[in-house]
Parts: sequence; C-alpha cells; structure tokens
Amino acid sequence: MSKFLEVDSLNVYYGGIHALQDVSLYIDEGEIVSVVGANGAGKSTLLRAIAGDKAIKSGTVTFCGERLPHTAYETMAKGISLVPEGRRIFPNLTVKENLIVSTFSRKDPKESIERDFEEVLALFPRLRERLKQRGGTLSGGEQQMLAVGRALMAHPKLLCMDEPSLGLAPIIVDELFEKILQLNRERGQTIMIVEQNAFLALEVANRAYVIKTGSITREGTGAALLNDPSIQQEYLGIQ
Ligand code: ATP
Repeated sequence: MSKFLEVDSLNVYYGGIHALQDVSLYIDEGEIVSVVGANGAGKSTLLRAIAGDKAIKSGTVTFCGERLPHTAYETMAKGISLVPEGRRIFPNLTVKENLIVSTFSRKDPKESIERDFEEVLALFPRLRERLKQRGGTLSGGEQQMLAVGRALMAHPKLLCMDEPSLGLAPIIVDELFEKILQLNRERGQTIMIVEQNAFLALEVANRAYVIKTGSITREGTGAALLNDPSIQQEYLGIQ
C-alpha cells in the first residue's frame, strides 16, 4: 500500500547550491512528523518543494498514491496546505477575510465551509474576538494563529508548518504547540512541522527526521531522538 505522503530521492538546487540531496521521507495518515535542523539545513526548502512552491530537479513527491504536480495551487487543491515561515497573512484584510481567502478553491458545500470556520474559531477563540480587525494589527502570536487558521480553512489532508515558533514568546509557543496537539488528537489532522526549536518539535512528534546541510542524517520516534545523547548535544543544547 502506498504511503500517505512519500518523498523519494528529492534533489533541489538554488543555482549552484545543492539545497536538498537525495532526501527521502514518509508520513502516515494521522501522524505528526517533525523535521529538525539548524539554520540553512534545508527545512524550508523541503516544505516548499512538497508544497509545489519550489522546483524539484529530480525525485518524486507522492501523496495519497498520486504523484504531485509541482505547482502550489494544484498541490493545495490536492489537500496540502502550507503555513509559511513568517506567516505571510494579508495585513490589510480583516481576520475574517484572511480566513475566507483560502476557501475560494473549495468545491464542497457552503455548510462544510461554515463548519470549518466555526471549528477554527473554537480552536482559536482569540480570532473570534477579532474577526473585523485587520490582520496586520494582530500580535505576532495572533498572526501565527491566523496563519494556521487560514491553512485549516482549506480543509487540508496534510497541514505543513514552517517554523511555527519563530519570533514568538515562549508562553505563546507553548500555547501554539498545545493547539497543534489538539488538532491532531481531536480531528486526526496529519501534520508536518519543520522547526529549529528541536525540543518542542520532537516532543510533539510521533516520528521525526534530522536534516543537516541538505541531507537526512537521522530518523526515529520523537521520544527516541529526544533521548539520544548526540541529538541532545547537537540540537538541544544539553551537554
Ligand atoms: P532556516 O531555519 O534558517 O530557515 P532552513 O533549514 O529552512 O533554514 P533553507 O531556507 O531551506 O534552510 O535553505 C537551505 C539552503 O538553501 C541554504 O544554504 C540557503 O542559503 C539556500 N537558499 C534558500 N533559499 C534560497 C534562495 N532563494 N536563493 C539561493 N539560496 C537559497
């Protein structure tokens, strides 16, 4: 049986920079899978390549048994939503408009879109209080919640998150990761997270991969990697 998501021998370049080198990984339905690594290891590139936002030189991405097209719009229509690094919400649109924007390509009935809207507001009550506020005036944490809410409004089969903790206060990061776990637990949402904050990313992950200068160097359960002395030393600041 084919995997939910399967990335096979992916190679991606920026000009002469070989940013991803034969990267292979998989995700099963219902899992949280994290990819951790240092600055410039290739984490964003990996997510962008999966989401059709960066051209692939060679290799394949197969999703639900189908080889993915390499354009962002088509990939989203197939059920993969990306919460990009730096959130990229629309600053001049209201919170409600930001959420509705990603439903334009949906072809299912209005009622299911309304149901998802209510679910997003139930998950992030702060957004309900601010539906008419412009996105650009939200705090960093609220903007991250809006970016996640916007991705969920596309009703994705796979939610990909690029560096969700970036620029957020620790207490807000904890709150956000709690929501990520809740989404997975209560909705069965499959989630892929790439993160520099290896501790949190490994803590919430069923399975995880370590990426170093464009190559996958380790894989295992989140718990096994968290307890591994070499990972602790290199990525968790534990000596
Ligand atoms: P960070 O945690 O700092 O965001 P990352 O692991 O997400 O890092 P990438 O952004 O995927 O890393 O970058 C991987 C490599 O590709 C780096 O060497 C980076 O300099 C290079 N790179 C990324 N984007 C571009 C680009 N648009 N043009 C040229 N090189 C790029």
